[in-house]
Amino acid sequence: MYDVCIIGAGPAGLSAAIYAQRAGKTAVILEAAGYGGQIINTPEVENYPGLKRTSGFEFARNLYEQATELGAELKYEKAVKVAKENGVFQVATTAGLYEAKAVILATGAKNRKLGIDGEEKLTGSGVSYCATCDGNFFRGRDVAVVGGGNTALEDAEVLAGLCGKVFLVHRRDQFRGDEKTVKRLSEKENVTFVLDSVPVCVEGDFMVSGLRVRNVKTDEEQVLPVAGVFVAVGQVPDNQDFSDVAELDPAGYVAAGEDCTTRTEGLFVAGDCRTKKVRQLTTAAADGAVSALAACEYINSL
Ligand code: NAP
Repeated sequence: MYDVCIIGAGPAGLSAAIYAQRAGKTAVILEAAGYGGQIINTPEVENYPGLKRTSGFEFARNLYEQATELGAELKYEKAVKVAKENGVFQVATTAGLYEAKAVILATGAKNRKLGIDGEEKLTGSGVSYCATCDGNFFRGRDVAVVGGGNTALEDAEVLAGLCGKVFLVHRRDQFRGDEKTVKRLSEKENVTFVLDSVPVCVEGDFMVSGLRVRNVKTDEEQVLPVAGVFVAVGQVPDNQDFSDVAELDPAGYVAAGEDCTTRTEGLFVAGDCRTKKVRQLTTAAADGAVSALAACEYINSL
């Protein structure tokens, strides 16, 4: 039996593992995809205190090495159920069963879909959710980015360096992301802002041939002739599998305060999957520390 079972190997989960191992506890991390979570898709991290500039990938790799060198075990298995029986947590995965004295949910969030015609059918055939991963396939071609947050702005910046024209489609006339990036983008000759506009459908039979958008103020529609559509409209949580043991808020995030405790004693929650206002690397790492120390305190009290 492990002391702590951590579900998710993003910044919150890996930070929790570091704190648990350093407190002398054994930690196993269960991860359905690759380690690092969403940060691996960020080309440059400039706002993590103490690190002037690094890539998201390098940041994630360092965190992973730090956690595993301290003794944490990482298993690439998707956790599908958590139950507490006779004071012991049973965590079922697609490959087996783990027992632990405490559990930390650090499941992060996944990409929100637009839910428009053509999106699902053309995913992988021109529709992408990761400019850093797929941008290279669109070298010299025209693309659209949908969204107005930092991810969309950064995606547009990456794509502007690779592609022909980049249309940045946002549903309002003010961006949610950082002004500094908006200014840099507005100075790029190949970037066009398509504001007050919502995507209506992705056009194309086998490959994307365009993105139809509608101006919400004039109701006029136009088709942007693009080969790629990069969707960056935020994230949604993925906690339904754990709703038996943790209360979810109306949006599906695990309901918990800054102490990272849930309604089940010994079950903690960290990072983007928790109800919170600010979802950043720093707050994910902070949650990792808070949840792991709380888990250690709980285990010591058993
Ligand atoms: P976000 O900040 O939630 O932005 C999502 C954007 O998508 C918003 O502009 C939103 O419009 C738009 N949107 C949402 N649903 C939509 C829909 N159905 N159709 C059209 N547009 C839609 O998400 P994010 O950009 O992924 O960022 C997530 C968090 O990570 C943020 O806290 C962000 O600051 C952070 N982040 C930081 C960095 C960095 O610091 N380097 C990089 C990336 C992300 P509205 O604005 O109208 O709501």
